[in-house]
Formats: sequence, C-alpha cells, structure tokens
Amino acid sequence: MAQLTAVLFDFGDTLFYSPDGAGLMVEEGLAPDLADRLWREIWASARSAAELARQRDVSPERHREAWTRLFARAEPHLPGVSERLYERVMVTDNWTPFPDSERTLPWLKERGVRVGVVSNVTSDLRPAFARHGLDAFVDSFTHSFEQRVEKPDPRIFLAACEALGSRPAETLMVGDSHLADGGAVEAGLTTLLLPPVSRGTERGLDLVTKLF
Ligand SMILES: [Mg+2]
Repeated sequence: MAQLTAVLFDFGDTLFYSPDGAGLMVEEGLAPDLADRLWREIWASARSAAELARQRDVSPERHREAWTRLFARAEPHLPGVSERLYERVMVTDNWTPFPDSERTLPWLKERGVRVGVVSNVTSDLRPAFARHGLDAFVDSFTHSFEQRVEKPDPRIFLAACEALGSRPAETLMVGDSHLADGGAVEAGLTTLLLPPVSRGTERGLDLVTKLF
C-alpha cells in the first residue's frame, strides 16, 4: 500500500454534529421521550439509501424539499415544526465540531498532512470551520452543490483529491456513512468508516492519527 499523505473528511456526523432537533421539539412542548424517538427516526431515515438516492444535496431547493418532508414526521405533534427544524438544524454555520475534531485537524497540519473536506451539502462549509477557528487546518473544501455530483459518486472524491493535489492511492477518506462515504473506495481511496456516537462525545478520530 502506498504511504498515506493526505486525508479527506466528511463533514456531517464525522467532524461536526448538528444542532439538537429533539431539543427544539422539547422547547416547543413535546415530551422528551417522544421528541427523542421522532428525532432518531428522522435522522435514521435521512441516512437511508432511498433518501440518498434523491440527490438532495445538489441544490438548495431539493435540499429544503427533502428535509422538510423528513421533518414532517413531527408535524402531527407540532404543526409547522418542519420549517422551524429546517432553519435550526440545517444551517451548517450552527453545527459544532466534535471535541477530537478540534485536536485532530491541528495535529495533521503540524505533521504536514494535507487535509480536505468532501461533503454532500448545499452551502459553503468554510464559515462553520472559521467560526470554530478550524479553517486554517483545512486545505480544500469540495462541496456537492458546486460539483453538481454527490457522494457516493466516485467523481466527487476524485475532484476532492485533485483539489488537495493528492493521488487517490495516497489519500485516506474518513466518514460515517457506508452508503455515501463508502463510495470513496471505488475512486481508489483507502476508507475509514466510523460508527455513530452521541452528539458532542469523542468521535474516535484518534484512529486517524495512528495512520500517519
Ligand atoms: Mg456524514
């Protein structure tokens, strides 16, 4: 195997986690158990193959339509909540880095490892990183809305490698979705998929540092 010299990270649920949709529903009067259950169901169906196949991340219009339809699961309990969930949860500037993201990105930069972000997303992720002082540790951002192609399509991973100036065989992909991020293997990247963790806990990114 070629020596790894660069790493691509997924954004959502890999480096950053979303605002708490269940929390918003509780604020609006829903019982915590019900809010948690609804939120888990929404997030799980958002990660399904059927939802990913909708290509929701190539335009803002498709994104809003797909997510408000998912959030509509909560409408019988809280009328109108899907728009409010969309505004709270889907603005990536409001997402928060996992604690080990804030350690791992500087660690990689210090060692001269090139770092890129490749994301299915409909807005620029740079402001979210800048807000947490992490933008200086990322060399390139590859967004699906700019590429007009989404993960798992190998073309977006190849575009991300090109943006980083790295060859796929020397680049590690780190993500959380076998359906989306797993497409990197078809583009020739060694791929690390991390299982889900709770919001705000350690993400398990120390494993990445062991590979460089
Ligand atoms: Mg993800």
